[in-house]
Amino acid sequence: MELLIVGGGPVGLAAALALRERGIRSSMTVLEAAPAGRQVYSDRNIALSSGSWRFLRRIGVALGDAPQAPITRVEVSQQGSFGLLTLDAADIGRAELGAAITYPALMSALHTAIGTTDIALRHDARVTALESSGDDTRVALANGECLRADGIIIADGAGGITLPGTRHHSRDSGHVAVLASVTASRPQPGLAIERFTAHGTLALVPRSDGDWTAIWAQPRADAERALALPDEAYAAMLNEAAGRALGTLTLAGARTQFPLVWHLREPRSSGSLVAIGNAAQGLHPAAAQGLNLGFADARVLASTMAACKAAPIRERFATFARRRAPDRLLRMGFSGLLAHGFHRGGWILDVPRGAGLMALQLATPARRALLRRLVLA
Ligand SMILES: Cc1cc2nc3c(=O)[nH]c(=O)nc-3n(C[C@H](O)[C@H](O)[C@H](O)COP(=O)(O)OP(=O)(O)OC[C@H]3O[C@@H](n4cnc5c(N)ncnc54)[C@H](O)[C@@H]3O)c2cc1C
Repeated sequence: MELLIVGGGPVGLAAALALRERGIRSSMTVLEAAPAGRQVYSDRNIALSSGSWRFLRRIGVALGDAPQAPITRVEVSQQGSFGLLTLDAADIGRAELGAAITYPALMSALHTAIGTTDIALRHDARVTALESSGDDTRVALANGECLRADGIIIADGAGGITLPGTRHHSRDSGHVAVLASVTASRPQPGLAIERFTAHGTLALVPRSDGDWTAIWAQPRADAERALALPDEAYAAMLNEAAGRALGTLTLAGARTQFPLVWHLREPRSSGSLVAIGNAAQGLHPAAAQGLNLGFADARVLASTMAACKAAPIRERFATFARRRAPDRLLRMGFSGLLAHGFHRGGWILDVPRGAGLMALQLATPARRALLRRLVLA
């Protein structure tokens, strides 16, 4: 059996490793558009759940030496109003909810792991088209090559290759995430913050260098104004919104921006083609669920392929899509709620929002169930 994986990002590489770890012995090639050694990674700080870390260890990704920032507690609150929800690792009997790592450190560990296997990773291999008719599936590369495979796993992120038989729904959220590294005057190791502010949802995620990454999703016009502000003025605006949990925040680096585009591919499988990770769904980063969801895709795809070895590949891909539906819905819903449902929308919503946070704080079983779902799955 010949498997092709389109996209050598974290999800494509993890899927290849997971398939091998589950004993799928087919010939496997990962096709990555970027040239070798010249992949340009954003320095984004990625918060990964305990479940994702466990998965990476199991598929042979050695992250022991990579700098990490453990996350033990998440505080959810709103600017200028009542309501505080604390999600604590101790609530589910754990030392940590997860840890953050930079995207380049993660990619470097994934490449090292791939290098110890017989999985072929081809750089400079941009896929331009996919064709699937019956069991005959092919990809066309930008260099004119045409490759055939028994199954093709699409992990091209927001690359947007057209997948015959599936529909790609995409919507510009109208929001832009403004990112900045900040130093806290009263650092609380392990603390991550999620805050509903007058401008949009603000997340503060610990970094391995002792700073925090501030990810502030704002309507495009507000974000443009915020990006044009001098450092001190932006820091003042950030401090006003962030509250005092970490003391005073000062900017520790340049600000960058990411347009927030929501997208979904449905159905995600068609014949011998299946989409995973950001190729299947693009989430708002407010809830830090995008890559966690992508790794869960890779894990479940591998276990489904292994469990139904006798079934044709098209059936295995369809079974995988069905199995992933509930978790996908939960995490997309949770991210959407944090990003948009809780977007301020005026003081009149402060009361139900605050009451909702407090209700979840008091409803210990519901809080623990949500935590287990997001952290351990
Ligand atoms: C600001 C920000 C913060 C985030 N923080 C978090 C977080 O804290 N926690 C979390 O879980 N997630 C987070 N995310 C989401 C996370 O970054 C993504 O979910 C993750 O990168 C998706 O991985 P992927 O492999 O699916 O796609 P990508 O990382 O986009 O990789 C896709 C790969 O496919 C290649 N490719 C594209 N087109 C082609 C083609 N035609 N042919 C061949 N190769 C191709 C690309 O070069 C790339 O290498 C964040 C995202 C943003 C923007």
